[in-house]
Amino acid sequence: MDRRSIIKKAGLAGVLAAGMAPAVHAQSTLRWRVASSFPKSLDTLFGTCEVFAKKVGEMSGGKFVISTHAAGELMPAFGVLDGVSNGTVEMAHTAPYYFFGKDPTYALDCAVPFGLNSRQMTAWMYEGNGLKLTREFYAKVGIVNFPMGNTGVQMGGWFRKEIHSVADLKGLKFRCGGFAGRMLERLGVVPSNIPGGEIYQALEKGTIDAAEWVGPYDDLKLGFSKVAPHYYYPGFWEAGPQLSLYVNQKAYDSLPSEYKAIVEAASAYAHIDMQAKYDARNMPALKTLIGQGVKLHAFPKEILTASFKAAMDVYAELNDTNPAWKKIYTDYAAFRKESNLWFGLAEASMDDFMQAQKF
Ligand code: CA
Repeated sequence: MDRRSIIKKAGLAGVLAAGMAPAVHAQSTLRWRVASSFPKSLDTLFGTCEVFAKKVGEMSGGKFVISTHAAGELMPAFGVLDGVSNGTVEMAHTAPYYFFGKDPTYALDCAVPFGLNSRQMTAWMYEGNGLKLTREFYAKVGIVNFPMGNTGVQMGGWFRKEIHSVADLKGLKFRCGGFAGRMLERLGVVPSNIPGGEIYQALEKGTIDAAEWVGPYDDLKLGFSKVAPHYYYPGFWEAGPQLSLYVNQKAYDSLPSEYKAIVEAASAYAHIDMQAKYDARNMPALKTLIGQGVKLHAFPKEILTASFKAAMDVYAELNDTNPAWKKIYTDYAAFRKESNLWFGLAEASMDDFMQAQKF
């Protein structure tokens, strides 16, 4: 019996009940591309867009196919914001703080120094006003954003020489993620914002004195320990950096509602998957690094205290000069204050106790 005669006989409701004619399956294959800001060698960062694309394929019965492209393949690592905005590609996966030079407000969709941790960021985005406010901001450049991954608190990076005080930061050429430079330059650091795939060479050549990337699992792969053995923590400029999936607004609007729901669900799935990978893989990688002779150090408290003050000064100045920043940061800061009250109670006391136990 052909499709038309089934519909005639059973009526549309009967066909739907039999699962034979959902709108999605009637469509031809849709092919989109996602441009990543990360190199293929990083299965956590680049891997997250692969997890997303695979899930979209599975959820659409193979009808919505998204191909994944590493940094440099379709466009440079930092070219993806413009690429999605002007429709060169339908999607990108990136760390929005890379675009702080265009507007520091982008960093609020990723990480700012002394900002929200991973769980707090997810809570602000999904349950607080984060998604609503950042979408309002991205609408100006024709992009719809979805949270897609978080690394958790990062490490402070790799230094050729030990850092004992704020004075040791003077003149230090430091590769650091996005917006951190705005704070650190007030302490005398000379910051640079270069893509992950280019850091090792800059460190080896001595173009920079120190570099931070992510944490043990990714850093081990990039081999920084060979050229800068002092590994510091915590990366106080990245308490919970969130990555974003960017979708071109017009392309998104053209999707059937089922596919829009699939993009939303698959990005949320990839969001959790990335944090799980980091939480499971960082400690074994750190043990390997220590076995290779890496020297682990905590930043002196003096550096955190001076940096905190510098960060708060930067935010106060931005509140006075950038209305888009002020609108989002005011909400973000209020959420941070409330959330830290809660996290400091049951969560922190339980963590403190458990981490002191000998199993
Ligand atoms: Ca980083």
